[in-house]
Amino acid sequence: MSTANETAACPLLPVVGGDLQVPLVDGSSTRYVNLDYAASAPALTSVAAHVTEVLPLYASVHRGAGYASQVSTAAYEHARQVVGDFVGARQDDLVIFTRNTTDSLNLLASVVPGETVVLDIEHHANLLPWVSDSARIVKAGDTVEDTLRRVDAELGSHRAALLAVTGASNVTGETLPLRRLATIAHRHGTRLAVDAAQLVPHRRVGVAFDGVDYLAFSGHKTYAPFGAGVLVGRRDWLDRGEPYLRGGGAVSTVTLESASWRTGPARHEGGSPNVVGVVALAKAIGELSALDPTAWADHEAALRDRLVTGLESVPEVRIHRLFADAEDTVGVVSFSVDGLDGHELATVLSAEWGIGVRDGRFCAHPLLERLGVDGPALRASFGVGSTIDDVDALLTALRSVIADGPRWTYTVVDGQFVAENDHRPRPDWAPELDPSLTSYGCAA
Ligand code: PMP
Repeated sequence: MSTANETAACPLLPVVGGDLQVPLVDGSSTRYVNLDYAASAPALTSVAAHVTEVLPLYASVHRGAGYASQVSTAAYEHARQVVGDFVGARQDDLVIFTRNTTDSLNLLASVVPGETVVLDIEHHANLLPWVSDSARIVKAGDTVEDTLRRVDAELGSHRAALLAVTGASNVTGETLPLRRLATIAHRHGTRLAVDAAQLVPHRRVGVAFDGVDYLAFSGHKTYAPFGAGVLVGRRDWLDRGEPYLRGGGAVSTVTLESASWRTGPARHEGGSPNVVGVVALAKAIGELSALDPTAWADHEAALRDRLVTGLESVPEVRIHRLFADAEDTVGVVSFSVDGLDGHELATVLSAEWGIGVRDGRFCAHPLLERLGVDGPALRASFGVGSTIDDVDALLTALRSVIADGPRWTYTVVDGQFVAENDHRPRPDWAPELDPSLTSYGCAA
């Protein structure tokens, strides 16, 4: 039997940038430790190679008579099949290509014929599309079991069209039991939508098997960072709903007074689609499908165990968790360090150690509030390209900063914590900008 160390000594799949050298603030350089997969995962090497192979044949899809257009159209539509097969979609489910999970959930929200129930622990992408007169919010319990009971009670109290939940939390990595949620929802005549942005990159999902009615995820978190997202699910609402992107491709006939809208994926994919992004995603999915599921799970479990055990051995560290009884947890670990601001710590980890983690409130403000987290927290996340060395690098750096403080001097400029005399070189195509142009989103 192999030890945890041996299990994740090497990447499970090679990623672009796996051996990237980055400059440190003191003028030296080091291997980049990318522990920010949950925000955007690196491209698989095979995905990047495939994109290079495809680009000469890249052309318009669906409307071009040229050879390259026909090849591109076939590749685009084949990708739809690959994605549907990968998530175990039903025969008559639609696979719609979008920009990302946020886009997919907004699309779904635009076609739901009734009220939606959501949990209070969601990423903003699975909260804001629903938070309106037509959404009801259930407070998750301290256990999965209690949460299921609360969902059951809410759905039983008053009919809802849809229950929309996260498959795996982008803050704690904890998963919810989809099959059980589907059973509960269906018992009340409610459909189940799953925000699988953090689930699909880590686990095989079976839409039909688990009883999931709609599934949303992002290519850039699934090792294909070329801008494609996915919504898979039941056809009827999608065919009846208003077209999401009105324009060419979504219509069959148009007069100045009226349009007859297509059904199927075309209805919601108006305009020229992201062919390269979709083909890249299909390639990444092919690679993930070929993994031995046990090896995949073991790799991630070894990394997670190592990180969690290491963090638990540092008294100043508090790991954020939701459920006492979470059965399965993916490679996402958030934590805070007593007496240290998360944003400052992340800045030091980057400037002095070449480590990339996420800091902030992770686009899940209500969840962080609920977890009692003040200010920015830190998140380390990993996947098939990560190794035990990456985790150990973070633990070593954290112990050093907590025990001895930073080795460099920092200052606050316009509310941002920055290293003084930071002359780390940048490629000329990515020049230094006013921080207000580069940091927005969910840090606050
Ligand atoms: N849901 C979850 C759970 C996420 O982690 C994220 C991304 N952080 C999203 C939705 C949104 O994904 P995207 O930014 O690709 O739209």
